[in-house]
Amino acid sequence: MTDQHAVAKGFESVYGTAPQVVWQAPGRVNVIGEHTDYNDGFMLPIALPHATRLAVALREDGVLRLHSAQSPDGSGVTELVLAELVPGSVPGWAGYPAGVVWALREAGHDVPGADLYFDSDVPVGAGLSSSAALECAVAAAYNDLCGLGMTPTQLALLSQHAENEFVGVPCGILDQLASSCCAEGMALFVDVRSIDPAEGRTRQVPLDLAGAGLVLLVIDTLVKHAHADGAYAERRRGCEKAAALLGLPALRDLPYADLDTALERLPEAGLRALVRHIVTEDARVERVTALLDAGELRAIGPLLTEGHASMRDDYRISCAETDLAVDTAVAAGALGARMTGGGFGGSIIALVEKDDADGVAAAVREAFAAQGWAEPRDFTVVPSAGARRLLP
Ligand code: ADP
Ligand code: MG
Repeated sequence: MTDQHAVAKGFESVYGTAPQVVWQAPGRVNVIGEHTDYNDGFMLPIALPHATRLAVALREDGVLRLHSAQSPDGSGVTELVLAELVPGSVPGWAGYPAGVVWALREAGHDVPGADLYFDSDVPVGAGLSSSAALECAVAAAYNDLCGLGMTPTQLALLSQHAENEFVGVPCGILDQLASSCCAEGMALFVDVRSIDPAEGRTRQVPLDLAGAGLVLLVIDTLVKHAHADGAYAERRRGCEKAAALLGLPALRDLPYADLDTALERLPEAGLRALVRHIVTEDARVERVTALLDAGELRAIGPLLTEGHASMRDDYRISCAETDLAVDTAVAAGALGARMTGGGFGGSIIALVEKDDADGVAAAVREAFAAQGWAEPRDFTVVPSAGARRLLP
């Protein structure tokens, strides 16, 4: 893992001076609560130990320069003029960080340009939110350097706004909230209707996996099926239509106890399945949260596996690779497993006893090999800290 001094050195080698600060913001996995965000519902992410580190020095000439150790254009530096930033104007990876600076200025903060140097160990495009890690690192560093006084929740909202409006990706608030607001040893219960922690709904929930002798095994299938974006939009529209037919502001407003009656009122089987996933998924998030509050960590396993079945059968967003990874992990002794992220590939998580992690990962690798599929990438994680300053 690249440490903060190496990131500061990397900055110096590109820009020839020392950075003022080094910040990092993590990727995330969602323990449970998939596709509930745009239904105003509940989610339970943790931050990964994997993070994007960002070294920054402000500039006074209205120029923004960006370099990423992972950028596809190699050692290049992207140079932008602050006054020319408009949505859609910056193609490629630089749009994410530039979008945050644009969003800050649009929100009325007269922030200056800067030299930015990124180095990340968050797997990119694996459903682990490397994009939110980029954004939240920029938002937190600017907040610090310019004394903006924004809360982690406000920085998450601003980062989401940047991804929605500047990059043009219609993501929910999950990824940015996790990257900005998570805490070590904790999961973050998120109620999308009430994300300000002062209101008491969105809150930290103890998830001391290490203390319980558990780990979360993340297995990246390395698969991303092409129709994912269209399928996301279609599910989202379906949920909005179902809510309208039921006379509800959002599917979150349908209590679990009323699910069966509501399903009888919906004309299409497809809509019924969407509603069933969202309402049961919100209920699973609440049940998992209650178990964690009670310290019953192992008991959440079956709920994770149940959540996968719901995504596979009702929401229909899993695929052969994620299904095989989940089934194999459970058969090999995982306490529970599910696909995490938007679907059609990406990563799965499996809750495993620490000593079983290697065996479960090996079983999934063997199952993939038997299908002739590329070897998946796996690593274990524990709940880690949200965005934080590393230097000085
Ligand atoms: P995810 O957020 O799940 O990793 P996304 O498609 O939302 O997947 O975001 C991935 C994109 O974010 C990449 O294609 C790239 O443009 C950008 N990105 C993320 N991390 C980095 C990085 N360290 N360096 C350059 N670009 C990055
Ligand atoms: Mg992303």
